[in-house]
Amino acid sequence: MRTGLNAKYENTLDQHLKNPELLFLDIHFSNLCDLACRTCRPITSTSWIKDATLLKTYNGPSHEEAVLKSRELVKQKIKTLTELKLKLDVLHLTGGELFLLDEVFEYLKNCDQKSKKNTTLYITTNLNSVATKTNSINFLEGWKNLELLCSIDAIGSLNDFIRHGSRWDKVLDGLNLIRKKLSHANIVIQPTISILNIFHLEEYLAFLKNDMPQLAFNFILLDRPSYYSIKQLDPELKNRARESLKKLQILYPSLQNEFDKIIEMLENSNESKMEQFHSITRRLDFLRGESFYKFYPDIF
Ligand code: SF4
Repeated sequence: MRTGLNAKYENTLDQHLKNPELLFLDIHFSNLCDLACRTCRPITSTSWIKDATLLKTYNGPSHEEAVLKSRELVKQKIKTLTELKLKLDVLHLTGGELFLLDEVFEYLKNCDQKSKKNTTLYITTNLNSVATKTNSINFLEGWKNLELLCSIDAIGSLNDFIRHGSRWDKVLDGLNLIRKKLSHANIVIQPTISILNIFHLEEYLAFLKNDMPQLAFNFILLDRPSYYSIKQLDPELKNRARESLKKLQILYPSLQNEFDKIIEMLENSNESKMEQFHSITRRLDFLRGESFYKFYPDIF
């Protein structure tokens, strides 16, 4: 998204700086989410509240209260947006998980034709509930410039492990539905790269190349929580990661810049937090009845 916007405003930046106006709006509607991704937390996902309470890292409102509060917040934000009648170049909407918020898609349905024609609408989704939301998808059909940013961190059971609560078959159903119903949209697959999936990229990319070759692709590099960041790998594991990235650079030359970003991040810190990583991972594995280590028996 950043690269696209840089290109869009490259030649008119001075003019916009002289006469600033609101052209870009990025709204995080609420923390209502159906997943509890390993790398997330209660402030951004209500589904994290139960585990964070048991881990004693959270003492905010209960899940039920947080959901009610989130719903109220969404209503208020939609009311404000409707009253403002903004003319935007770019509108980026995200949750929690946006497809849980039917009222946001009602709002999008009711936006005027000019906005639907001129505004580029970005939507971030985890895809998990998309296949059940045909109405919401229908409401997006009128948006001419539509970008769907899909968070998929791995393939199959590893994706469901990292993105706890996710079901791989539902994710694929959601993806196939938007490809079919919103064929004019630009669909971008966005994996968040962390210690949890850095050693799984070969399989991931092979899947995308074979099954979804026409989709765009963008790596997001996780920085926080820091104990999941690839910066914190110990030197031996960084070497292993570098070796596998070099191999991938040969297999996927068009992704050279993306691999460069990852390698740069690997060089970014000499401080290893692997002890903290293992401690947190084991505690959460225990709570969730899962095992990170079964995915990487030769590495960790
Ligand atoms: S889908 Fe997004 S908001 Fe929901 S738990 Fe995962 S990272 Fe957090």
